[in-house]
Amino acid sequence: MSDWSKVTRPIPVPDEWTKPFWAAAKRHSLEMQRCQSCGHFQHPPYATCTQCIGVDLKFEPVRGQGKIYAYTIMYHTGDKRFASAVPYASIIVELDDAPGAFMAGNLLGAEYTEAKVGRRVEVIFEKLNDDITLPQFKLAGE
Ligand SMILES: [Zn+2]
Repeated sequence: MSDWSKVTRPIPVPDEWTKPFWAAAKRHSLEMQRCQSCGHFQHPPYATCTQCIGVDLKFEPVRGQGKIYAYTIMYHTGDKRFASAVPYASIIVELDDAPGAFMAGNLLGAEYTEAKVGRRVEVIFEKLNDDITLPQFKLAGE
């Protein structure tokens, strides 16, 4: 299994659009940006709705369950910070409560070979430092 304990992750830098997402993650809550005009969820957050160009956007809490929409297995250590984790699965997850919004993360706590399209996963929170907590995923029910 991938050894993430020796990985030094790049630290995300919140901007004006992503700040609410990171603030929620720090509280171990997953909140996704939703258009209040048409109801569309989107991720990553934008200045306008990607469906109707509406600007009335709010962050709403969602449960962290969903399924793997796509994945890729990382075999190479182009970024040496991730060397101890190779091979590992980078996954794209579609959340049950936020259809249309796709979140990227790593599949943690499982062999990379467990990453399959359609597999059920749920969010877990990985604290990177006092400011940033990274939403990640594990297999559902484990
Ligand atoms: Zn909209």
